[in-house]
Order: sequence, then C-alpha cells, then structure tokens
Amino acid sequence: MLNVRGVRGAPDILPRETSSWRRVEEAARGLCLRYGYHEIRTPIFERTELFVRGIGEGTDIVEKEMYTFTDQGQENLTLRPEGTAPVVRAYLEHHMAAQLPLVKVYYVGPMFRRERPQGGRYRQFHQLGVEAIGSGQPALDAEVLALLSGFLQEELRVPDLELRLNSIGDAVCRPRIKDRLLAYFSGHASRLCRDCQERLHRNPLRILDCKQDGCQRVVAEAPKPIESLCEACAAHFSEVRGLLDLLNIAYTIDDRLVRGLDYYTRTTFEVISPHLGAQNALAGGGRYDGLIEAMGGPPTPGIGFAVGLERVIASLPVSAEEDTALHGVYIATMGDEAHVTGMRLLQELRRQGVRGLIDLEARSLKGQLRQANKDRVRYCVIIGEEELARGQATLRDMEKAEQQAVPLDHVVARLLELEGSRGR
Ligand code: AMP
Repeated sequence: MLNVRGVRGAPDILPRETSSWRRVEEAARGLCLRYGYHEIRTPIFERTELFVRGIGEGTDIVEKEMYTFTDQGQENLTLRPEGTAPVVRAYLEHHMAAQLPLVKVYYVGPMFRRERPQGGRYRQFHQLGVEAIGSGQPALDAEVLALLSGFLQEELRVPDLELRLNSIGDAVCRPRIKDRLLAYFSGHASRLCRDCQERLHRNPLRILDCKQDGCQRVVAEAPKPIESLCEACAAHFSEVRGLLDLLNIAYTIDDRLVRGLDYYTRTTFEVISPHLGAQNALAGGGRYDGLIEAMGGPPTPGIGFAVGLERVIASLPVSAEEDTALHGVYIATMGDEAHVTGMRLLQELRRQGVRGLIDLEARSLKGQLRQANKDRVRYCVIIGEEELARGQATLRDMEKAEQQAVPLDHVVARLLELEGSRGR
C-alpha cells in the first residue's frame, strides 16, 4: 500500500486543535474591525519577482527559503513567504489609494518558507498581518502597536509578553547610520561570522540582528542607530513613545532591533514571549516608508506587522470554561421505527440551528447514552419502543440529571425553548 506522509514542517491542524484556531482568528477579525481595518485576501502564490523586489535580494527568505517553481506555462511562481509584498501589489494594482488616502487592511492565512523545522518554526505557518498604507503620522504607528498589543494581551491574554521597540532612521539619516556601522564593523571583521562578513558591505545594519555568539559580542559595542537619527526621525520616535505612554502600552527599547532593507524606515518592533524557547518572537513589524516606491508606486508611507499564529496558540492560557461547557442534543433511539422518528427530529433541530447528533453505528441504547456523554451534549432525547407507542420521548437534561416525558410533537419546540433560554 502506498504510504505517503505529510511534508516535514507542514503540520496538520487536527479537529481537537481547530477550536483554539477559530477563537484566535475570530478575536483577530473582531479587533481589526473595531480598529477600522478591512480584510484582504491575496492569492497563495505570486510571481517570484514580487518577493524578490518586495522582500529584497540578499535576504534569507529570498536567497534560501522560497518555494519557487516554474509552471506549465513557464511562469516563475512562488508560494507566498509573507504578506506585505502581496498587499502592496494589490494596493497598487487596484488603485486602492484613489478611493481612500489611508488604506487599512488585515489578512489571515498560510505562509511558506523552507526553513529548518524545529519547535515553533514551520515550513507552512499562519500569520495575522496588518498593513496601513498612506500615512507617516506617529499616531498611525501608535494605532498599529495598540492593535497588536490589544490582540495579544487584552483579547487573548497571552502572559508575560514584551514589546520591543526601535527606530532605524530614514533616507536622510540611514547613510550616516550605515557609515558608522561600516567603520566600526570593518575594524572587527575577522570576529564576524561568514554571513556577516558578506553583509558588511551589502548591508551592515543586518549584522546587528545576527544571532551568532561571536557577532553578538562585536555587536554589543557597535554604534546604535537610535543615536544617529536625524531630527525628523528622532521627533517621530519620541512622538510614538509619547503616544504609547498615553495609551498605557508598555514597551522596552531594543536598540539592536533592525529590519535589513532600505525601504524599512523609522519604527521597528517585535513581541517576544519568554515561554517559547529559541523561537521566541510572536510578532514583528515596522514602518516601510520606502517600500511602495520601490515596488513602482508613488512615494507613500506605510506600516504593518505580522503575528505568527502557531506561536500565539502555543502561548494561550488554557481556558477551563471551553472544556466543560455542554452543547446541543443527542437523540438516542431503540428500534428501526424510533430511529426514523429520531432522524426526523434531528433534521428539524439542525434546521433550527441546534447542534444535533444521532447514532450512526447501530449501537445499543446503553452505547448511545455513553456516546452522548462523550459528545458533551446538554440534552438527550430518548425514544424507545414504549415511548414511541405512547407518542412520547424522554428528555434528559445531562447537566441537572433530570428527565421528563415530552409528547413527540413538542420535542423540538421544547428543546428550542430550553436552548434559547440558555443563549445557545
Ligand atoms: P516575519 O514575517 O519574519 O517578520 O515574522 C513574523 C512572525 O511570524 C514571527 O514573529 C513569527 O511569530 C512568525 N513566523 C515567522 N516565520 C515562521 C516560521 N517559519 N514558523 C512559524 N512562525 C513563523
């Protein structure tokens, strides 16, 4: 027999896990709506060059991690490794700015990167992403950060999170920031890892981000971008910080937090959890005031973030409430005739919006009642031969352990009444 296993790093999300996923996704949608963000759904694959341009040559994603293939029509396509470039493409392609000067969107869905799988790092994973395009105001940075922190801390109550914040300057001060880094790192080049030696001339900012011990020791003494900001960038950062204080959003400054590419500007941020081990970042984001122009649009500022949903779900506090609640109705029957009557009741209940179950495996009555318990239903409708002869069913409340006889043609109405009174 053919025995084909799933792809490493592309996990199944099993039925016992999907209720957590739905809870997280619903929380995300509800909150985004409250903040005035609209959902956008871009395709799972795009032309490869979109990501090469949007994420940048020389990044790990583009160089090593993309699932790229040529299709039968010789088009070079890539499974999306992130959501910002597709959103910017759609923004430009559909002239979204013409309808609204500030476009605020969110997306939820799978991303693909050929990374080495390990705890918390997958090859297919899911992100909630938010992008706000069309304003450079510090108030927008604060809004996006408030949304991120509201999602993780207030909606989902993920414990012990740390929001790290930095500013990496813009087209005015970045050259100076880079020059200072280049001068410093050139003096310590032999202590840098091979990747960082390459980064030295291509993009010294990215050395700040290297996780290798040797590089970290060199980085510890490196000049900080935040200390070389131009006046406008320093003022922007100070306003963002003031607004976060106003909104009661706690953060720490992490002066090593960078995004490698030139079109990432000013504010960068990350959310870290101490409970996640090596892959401790739950979310990352920042301003990209140069990106839209780099992708062929007019100069337009923007900011966004992406949250890794696998890591969010791994961090959720266990909710006792979810596990104990009883829902819906199990119809237990004895004999063929009773089963037919039961099927009819079941159909009516389901049409009326009630969760309804019935035996599909020819179990004994005892077996059916055992199954009803396993299925965690609130009510059981028992139709035996005797009940049927009297035109009745026994309605049992599984929580209160009480039961009563109900005429068969009142069962649906009675259940709807009961379910309605507990808010279904
Ligand atoms: P990035 O798009 O790289 O800035 O990542 C944003 C967030 O997505 C990270 O903070 C992680 O939570 C999540 N993430 C990124 N890559 C992976 C991966 N390979 N597996 C699981 N989650 C990931």
